[in-house]
Amino acid sequence: MKKHNFSAGPCILPQEVFQQASEAVLNFNNIDLSLIEISHRSTDFVAVMENARSLVKELLGVPEGYSVLFLQGGASLEFLMVPYNLMKEGGKAAYLDTGTWANKAIKEASLLGDAVVVESSKNKNYNYIPKEYKIPTDVDYFHCTSNNTIYGTQMKEFPATPSLMVCDMSSDIFSKKVNVADFDLIYAGAQKNMGPAGTTLVIVKDEVLGKTNRTIPTMLDYTTHIKKDSMFNTPPVFPVYVSMLTLEWLKKNGGVQWIEKVNKDKADLLYGEIDRNPLFTGTAAVEDRSNMNVTFLLNDSSLEGEFNQMWQAAGCNGLKGHRSVGGYRASMYNALPLESVQVLVDVMQELERKAL
Ligand SMILES: *Cc1c(COP(=O)(O)O)cnc(C)c1O
Repeated sequence: MKKHNFSAGPCILPQEVFQQASEAVLNFNNIDLSLIEISHRSTDFVAVMENARSLVKELLGVPEGYSVLFLQGGASLEFLMVPYNLMKEGGKAAYLDTGTWANKAIKEASLLGDAVVVESSKNKNYNYIPKEYKIPTDVDYFHCTSNNTIYGTQMKEFPATPSLMVCDMSSDIFSKKVNVADFDLIYAGAQKNMGPAGTTLVIVKDEVLGKTNRTIPTMLDYTTHIKKDSMFNTPPVFPVYVSMLTLEWLKKNGGVQWIEKVNKDKADLLYGEIDRNPLFTGTAAVEDRSNMNVTFLLNDSSLEGEFNQMWQAAGCNGLKGHRSVGGYRASMYNALPLESVQVLVDVMQELERKAL
């Protein structure tokens, strides 16, 4: 029996995707070669790359004038590529500080220019999303993090900005509808909702590039990758292929509209139990709660040993909270079924019966 995998990342993917991916490693498309031993320039692999990019466009409704790229270096390299490509020489960018990942993005931008923090929720250990702030008019772009994987907060709305709009959507991409036209650049490491670690999705509006007067190292320049259809150098063939399979799974089941509802049902079920059960407390501000990462505490920490033993015995995995928040974190990415959430809720109710 497979475990109920609440891991924050790398994370659960659809079981059928694991099956198809493992078959392709042995014999891809019945060509008697493995996916990972053929040329990335072969027609079989070029078709994978094209299909993956067109699935992204279709599922997210990417408008004309945007490029879809599969890069390497994780979301962490995008923290640097974004300012290289969008921050003018001697320029300025605005950042919303909503946690660890936002901080890492700010650190890289500061290497190249002035990264202004417009607002931060650090004063409350990032348990909410700041809403009252002004984005200066003289910045090259505004950067935010749509879902804060560690703290369990999620932006439900995005601010209007006088500048370009950039968003790290690593942990909630494809989990709900987004209006891509509202953004100039979106990036996401694959390993939270799309595929295995090793590739990063970038969606960028073409017309915003080439305006910084900077000398950009070849590999860090988005235009390098746009010109070569994400094949400037050897692409991460396996992560791109598995991402393609996951996106096919999403499309077949009803796309982003379908998964948004599934994700809401899962979130309602678990937050409902956290709010009802007197043993538990959610750590994120209610209006900013994430549908992807649910952070919560046991009010009486002496019950932790018993709770841990119970959820492990029920086949759950990956529920330990991040060290900067403590407690528990249930990550409920797209491929996690509602039944897995029900198993966790049952364990929480069982603990309540035992403890009270
Ligand atoms: C996991 C994560 C990252 C880091 O991604 P890597 O691909 O490991 O570099 C960045 N931002 C957010 C929001 C994340 O959840």
